[in-house]
Amino acid sequence: MQTVGKLMKVFLTRRIPPEGMKVLTAAGVCELSLWDSDEPVPRPELLRGVQGAHGLLCLLSDKIDAEVLDAAGPNLKVISTLSVGFDHMALDEIKKRGIRVGYTPDVLTDATAELTVALLLATARRLPEGVEEVKNGGWSSWKPLWLCGYGLSGSTVGVIGLGRIGMAIARRLMPFGVKRLLYSGRTAKAHAAEVNGEFVPLDTLVSESDFIVVSCSLTPETQGLCDKAFFSKMKNTAVLVNSSRGAVVNQEDLYEALTSGQIAAAGLDVTTPEPLPTNHPLLKLKNCVVLPHIGSATYSTRGIMAALSAQNLLGGLQGADMPSELTF
Ligand code: NAP
Repeated sequence: MQTVGKLMKVFLTRRIPPEGMKVLTAAGVCELSLWDSDEPVPRPELLRGVQGAHGLLCLLSDKIDAEVLDAAGPNLKVISTLSVGFDHMALDEIKKRGIRVGYTPDVLTDATAELTVALLLATARRLPEGVEEVKNGGWSSWKPLWLCGYGLSGSTVGVIGLGRIGMAIARRLMPFGVKRLLYSGRTAKAHAAEVNGEFVPLDTLVSESDFIVVSCSLTPETQGLCDKAFFSKMKNTAVLVNSSRGAVVNQEDLYEALTSGQIAAAGLDVTTPEPLPTNHPLLKLKNCVVLPHIGSATYSTRGIMAALSAQNLLGGLQGADMPSELTF
């Protein structure tokens, strides 16, 4: 608990939306220092900034490992991440030190699902290619087979990881006339009934789906899940969409699958690394649509995420409830 009259030190690794800063300053219990930039904090600055901190507010681009925890020292009570994903944090090390973790589930689900549907449609119906053709004079006339793609009506959609976001994606896709909704994961989900979801082995999902949506968390089991063997089982007409984490997809194998005609197209909101270098081979492919990790990027969602991460931080600092505490 805070010593009366003494402020607790908090380090923020980035400028965050004003909704979050308002919560932190209004509480009047922390001495805030931040990496005052829209760009990621350089590692040495992170290691310096976190020294002696009671609380750390970080982003998914900050690797929070033993070195950072050691640099922080024994005061550190809470880490609040402005994300629902927590694969950037060494949870075993954090647990060892008895540090609590806050994250931002639910509040970004709708925005991320909406973006994933947009990416799926943009990829399957070749929107970026079409826009480019309009601009570069490639649009000569209406042609029967020009810029044709694949539609959702009557299709089979496979969702890998029917969690909060996977389910929200499924709910949005069903009204497009999807015929079958398959999903895979560690356990069958009762909520799948709402979208007539069929829990199937991954191999079945991969070989029977016309659209595969990756919405699982990144774990040792899902790292590299979409690899050569995975793509070789997909239909040649199938489209892959990934809005989870880049490392779930083996990008070399994806490149091969996209250039050999093994699969039709891919839409990625997440890549390895981020940002993807501008000379990356995937960016040269017309059948690959890459977005800069903007799943949750609506003004209101980012504001709500910032406020929630600030509330989580305050709860952890004061030994009180955190609105969204990660159990691990
Ligand atoms: P969630 O509710 O925890 O869902 C994660 C799902 O992953 C669960 O359904 C889980 O299934 C599944 N999963 C875990 N291991 C699996 C495996 N081996 N095979 C298949 N599925 C597996 O989390 P969420 O809120 O939906 O978020 C999901 C992920 O989306 C986050 O972890 C984050 O990486 C990513 N995300 C991206 C953006 C973006 O901007 N693109 C935004 C927000 C989140 P079980 O329950 O059966 O284990």
